[in-house]
Order: sequence, then C-alpha cells, then structure tokens
Amino acid sequence: MEFKEINPSPRTLMAPGPVEADPRVLRAMSAHILGQFDPEFTALMNETMEMARRVFQTKNAQTYTVDTTSRGGLETVLTGAICPGDKVLIPAFGRFGYLLSEILERCGADITLIETDWGSVFDPEQIEAELKKQRYKAVALVHGETSTSMMQPLEEIGRICKNYGALLIVDTVATLGGTEVKVDDWFIDGCIAGTQKCVSAPSGSALITYNKAIEDIILARKKVEKGIRTAEDKASSLPQIPSNYLDLAQLQDYWSPRRLNHHTEATSMQYAVHEALRCILMEGLDNRFARHKLNDKALCAGLTAMGLTIFGDLKHKMPVVTAINIPEGLDGKVLRAELLNDFGIEIATSFGPLDGKILRIGNMGYSSQKRNILFTLGALEAVLLQHKVKLPAGDAVAAALEVYREAEQ
Ligand SMILES: *Cc1c(COP(=O)(O)O)cnc(C)c1O
Repeated sequence: MEFKEINPSPRTLMAPGPVEADPRVLRAMSAHILGQFDPEFTALMNETMEMARRVFQTKNAQTYTVDTTSRGGLETVLTGAICPGDKVLIPAFGRFGYLLSEILERCGADITLIETDWGSVFDPEQIEAELKKQRYKAVALVHGETSTSMMQPLEEIGRICKNYGALLIVDTVATLGGTEVKVDDWFIDGCIAGTQKCVSAPSGSALITYNKAIEDIILARKKVEKGIRTAEDKASSLPQIPSNYLDLAQLQDYWSPRRLNHHTEATSMQYAVHEALRCILMEGLDNRFARHKLNDKALCAGLTAMGLTIFGDLKHKMPVVTAINIPEGLDGKVLRAELLNDFGIEIATSFGPLDGKILRIGNMGYSSQKRNILFTLGALEAVLLQHKVKLPAGDAVAAALEVYREAEQ
C-alpha cells in the first residue's frame, strides 16, 4: 500500500488550543456508530444537555451542541439571535472580539465597536457609558481573549446589560471548563464554547446555551423546511435565519422531543462531548478550576524565575493562557520550531499588533498537568540557552516545583 497508516508523533500540546484530549474521550470516540434517532442515541443526547447545563452553570432548557467548531457555534448563536438592522455593541480587546464583528457584519447587524489596547480589558463603566448613548439589542463580547491572554470580568457587565435591556452574548470558548463561567448568575443570555480547549476533546463540536429571551427570537424566525413542514409550523414573524445549516430554529427542534430531521448528527463527536463533560463533572468544577490555577501559578513562577516578563495587565490574565514577551533580538518562530522539533512541545505565536512580540502558552484541560508545566519550562530554558540568553539555569523548574510543594502542605 503506497499510503501509510496514520501514526502521528506524540506531542505535548501547550498552545491555547487544540489541547490534548483525555484518553477516555478518545476511547469513547471509537465506540459503535448509532443512528441519530436511535433511542439509545437520543438518550445520550439528553444526558449531554444535562451535563452541559451543569458545566455552563445554567438552567437554560436550550443547552446543546452544534456540529461545527467554536467559530461555527458563535456564528450559529449570533445569526439566530441577531436580525438584520439590530444594533449590537462589541467591546473588542483582541482578535476574537473582532471575529464577533466579522460574523455580525454578515448578519446585517448595525455594529458599534469599542476598542481597548491589546493586553487590557474594559471597565464596566465604559460599557455602561455606551449603553446610555443609545438603545442596543445586544452586547457581544469575549470572556477569555486567547489572542492577548486577557480575561474580561463579566459579573457587573451582565447586570448592566440587563438594566439597559440589551442581550449579553459571550464567547467562552477558551474559558469553559478551565475557569469559572456562571451563565445564570452573570446574566448571560447566550453563551458559546468549543470542545478543543479546556473541555479537552478534539475540535469539531460547539457547546451552546441560550435563555428564553433568545429562544423567543429564534421561534419568531423559525421556518421549517418544505418537505418536513407540518400544519403546526406557523409562518415566521421576524426575518428568517439566513443560514440553513446553522439554523438554531431547526437545530433546537432536533434536540427537542420533536427530533426534527435536520443534518446527520456526528455520532462519534457526540460520544466525545459526552465523555469530556462527564470527565469534567467527575473531577468537579471547583477541583478543575483549582488545578488550572495551581498549574498557572507554577508556570508563571517558572517563567519569571527564568527572567522572562509576562505580557499584559496581570490582574486580568487568564489562568489558562500565559503570554510572554519575546526577549530582545530573538525570533519567536525559531523558538517555537525548536520547541516542536527538539521536544515535541507546541506553543503559539500571536496575531495582529502582537505578532512576533509575544509567545502564548496554554494551560488547558488535559494538557494542564504538572509534568507538562515542568517539561515546558525545562525545554524553553534549554532553547533560550542555545540562543545565548543569559538566564539562571535550573531556576525555572525549581521555582515551579516550589509552588507545587507549597500547595501540597
Ligand atoms: C479558539 C477560539 C475561537 C475559535 O475556535 P475554533 O474552534 O477554532 O473555531 C473563538 N474564540 C476564542 C476566544 C477562542 O479562543
């Protein structure tokens, strides 16, 4: 046979996605295929909905997955909830904030973009000041901005949006499963996450949840396809959702007892999501967040001991991503390539204004382990030493170990 069997090299995935999948998730993916209307399969879907509610910390009935990546999940919720002409405020503090505006532009939304420097977040007052100026249908923003490693506090923003009658739609792709995301307590109306970051499954599914306010919009836009339409399917009173594949109105019916026929569900990916959510709940949300926090503390202690500086406003750094300033005279691309080729470790560069200036290290899901943190620190030190960077050799791993020792006491 001229084509070889797939046999990828083992890697330590320390970029902010994709990250290593829990082996239990990979095993679940190799189970027998079931038909999408098989009662065994629909029972599993119902369990996935219930587990996803616990992970999102919500009671929203509409909590399920879409067969797409996180970006597709964002597009699904935004194209469903936002009608052409709706005013949407986007406070952007990095690349993924701009992605929200790219998606919303194509929905025909009337967008107001407010920006802040990459490496910082917004004060809730800045958002309130904007909401005072005019009435907005929604505010769309990112929780953990992976491109800058900054995390926007949401508690107050949700309350402000509610006071001004604006929906709050949040991208928690990088944070769900790694740090607190409280959909109900924070008054988030629509929330989107993925599977390949802190949830620790392969890429290929998006987790979404939305409340009654968004569900009402979706229902008013619903148009069931000719061929499967029945007498109970009324004409829509709001503009029809422009995407057929990412049509929340029909997807919602597939995940409801009606089990409306839409696309063929990705069975193996559903197994993966089910097992990944089960692993999160088995570990316990608080334990899981504490694990990420401890590994973050050890990583930062190690990087600092090496003489590196951490990028951005440290008060608002995500516990699951750390960006380091690339030392003077070094090429980030070369450092990354050496980490990959010599050590099998993947870390990430950045985009836009930070391209070539910072390197980003993920600490997510199954990849967030003591051994990975120590290995990454040791490898990074070796790579920097090869480039004649003067650093206190051995201090990085020792500083991280000290953090772990303290935590054990
Ligand atoms: C990774 C990421 C995305 C995009 O996810 P895909 O799965 O690649 O589509 C969107 N938003 C944030 C904040 C991310 O970190």
